[in-house]
Order: sequence, then C-alpha cells, then structure tokens
Amino acid sequence: MSELPLPSATRLLGKSGIAVSTIAWGMWRLAEDGRTAADAARLVHAALDAGITFLDTADIYGFDGTGGFGDAEALLGEVLAVEPSLRQRMVLATKGGILPPLPYDQSADYLRKAIEDSLRRLKVDVIDLWQIHRPDILAHPQEVARVLDDAVASGKVRALGVSNFTMAQIAALDHFLGSGLATTQPEISPLRITCFENGELDQAMMLGLTPMAWSPLGGGRLASPETARDKAVAAALDAVAEAQGVSRTVAAYAWLMAHPAGIVPIIGSQKAERIAEGAEALNVRWTRQEWYAVLVAARGERLP
Ligand code: NAP
Repeated sequence: MSELPLPSATRLLGKSGIAVSTIAWGMWRLAEDGRTAADAARLVHAALDAGITFLDTADIYGFDGTGGFGDAEALLGEVLAVEPSLRQRMVLATKGGILPPLPYDQSADYLRKAIEDSLRRLKVDVIDLWQIHRPDILAHPQEVARVLDDAVASGKVRALGVSNFTMAQIAALDHFLGSGLATTQPEISPLRITCFENGELDQAMMLGLTPMAWSPLGGGRLASPETARDKAVAAALDAVAEAQGVSRTVAAYAWLMAHPAGIVPIIGSQKAERIAEGAEALNVRWTRQEWYAVLVAARGERLP
C-alpha cells in the first residue's frame, strides 16, 4: 500500500521566508474560564516546549457578545511582558477586521488602527503574520492592499494573510498586494472537507499560500461525535490512531497535514497536555487507502 510522505517539522509561511512549525496553537478560547496570565503562560510554554511555535490569535478573541474585545491578545501581551524572551521563540499571528456590531471593517483608517491596537495589546514591535479575519464586501481590494503593504514597509507586520475569504476575494487581494499573501485560513477538518474539492487548496498551492486550518476537530465535535456521519469519520480516524498508538485527535491533525498543500492545523485546546500531544501528529503515517477512507466517511458517499 502506498504511503504518503510524513510532514516536515517546519515549513515556510507562503513566500515570506518565515519558518513556522507545521502545527499551530490557537488562542480563540484563551481568555475564557477566568484564565490568568500565569495560566496563559503555562499554555504558551506547553506549546513552545512541544515545538509548536506558530501561535494564532485575533483582536476579537475574548469578545463575548457585549465586551472583551482584545482580551485574548491582551492576555498574551501580559505573558510577554513578564517573560519577554518568549517572543523570540514564537511566530506570532493575529487578525483584525471583525468589528462588532458593524460587522466588518477594512477601511484604510480602521485597518491602520486595528494593527496599531494589536501591537499595543500584544506589547510587541512587530506582528509576524497579520490576517484579515473576514472579508469586508464594502472594501476595495486595491485600497486594502495599499494599507497592508504600508504596514509591511513600515516594519509593523512581516507577512499577510486572510481568513474566510472566497477564492475570488483571495485572488483580488493577492493581485493588488506588492508583498503578496502568505496564508489563507479557512475552516478545514475531517468534518469540514469542502476545501478539498472546491478548489481552495488548489488555489493555495497555485499562489504559494500556506493554508491554516481553523477548528481542525470541528470545534471539538470530533472528540465526541454524535451523528452517524461524524461517528463514521471518527471510526476511520480511530483505525489509524489505534494502529499507530495515538489519539483520534492526533490522527485528525495528521490527516490534514498529509495533504500536499501543507495544511497547518491550528490546535484549539486550552489544556497543556492536549496542546503538547498535538506534536505527535508529525509521526503518523497514512496510506492512500486510509486517507481516502476518512474522506469517503466525511462525504457520506463513495467517490466516483
Ligand atoms: P478545535 O481543535 O476544532 O476545537 C477545540 C475544542 O475542542 C476545545 O474547546 C477543546 O476543549 C475541545 N476538545 C475536546 N476534546 C479534545 C481533545 N481530545 N483534544 C483537543 N481538543 C478537544 O479548534 P477550535 O478551538 O474550534 O479552533 C482552533 C483555532 O482556530 C482557534 O484557536 C483559532 O486560532 C482558530 N479559529 C479561527 C477562526 C477564523 O474565523 N479564522 C474561527 C475559529 C477558530 P479543551 O480546551 O478543553 O481541550
């Protein structure tokens, strides 16, 4: 049976020249459950010590519908203020452009302000990857590109990305950007497979973008599947997980990483042991047959 290649431990972020770990840790849920800066520091250490050095946050993380905008960034900023040497150990990604209750703003003035505010909250001089969180249909991509290129030229941002953009929106912004896009961040998981067949990953390979997978466990659904379809996907992952002595969640990350586009799953857990465990995904081998078995379970019907 033909085996797919193992992922390398690091990869370059698009054409930016920035090397990142092949698996990332996300902080969407960091500023929840009364977590203190000391708690957050433990999680940052758990990720870095496991070799997971690519950290993803956003200005909106922490917002609960009424308040908390910026809280996840601010918490990481507190961690970095106490232990500044951590900054050198991570590639730091954040996002902006969702602004409740608007809902989205990519006007030039707002983009400049969003980047400045993130720098201030994170207490850093430069953001390694700044991403537009969701597309603002009212923004012209040429104007957006001008502001983002300025942010790169001024040294405030090293590389640029988008999230939840359509393929046409990605192509338009990439066309106008002098520095080009380095990443795209759609939702991808064994339970959310549209990217595999709708051309998004093909576009990423064509443009040289690193795809980052948000909610790689379907927001946790894969850990406790309820529907018949979700249970079938879990069973296909379990077959490989059990044979190789890893958990289903590790097999899920590895399944994404086996795709030739070089998908970087963003671990969403806020538990130190689960974050660290994610690094085991680098050692999981997939045969073509096993890989397609998960895809077929997710499709709910055989491939033609
Ligand atoms: P996920 O990995 O799909 O789900 C994580 C959730 O599953 C956590 O609540 C976690 O709880 C739970 N979980 C239950 N059992 C688990 C297990 N065995 N192992 C690991 N987790 C388990 O990811 P996500 O949190 O939804 O999203 C991941 C990251 O993607 C975010 O942090 C963010 O950076 C990014 N994201 C981006 C967007 C966007 O629009 N760009 C949207 C959503 C997310 P515990 O914490 O208790 O482990």
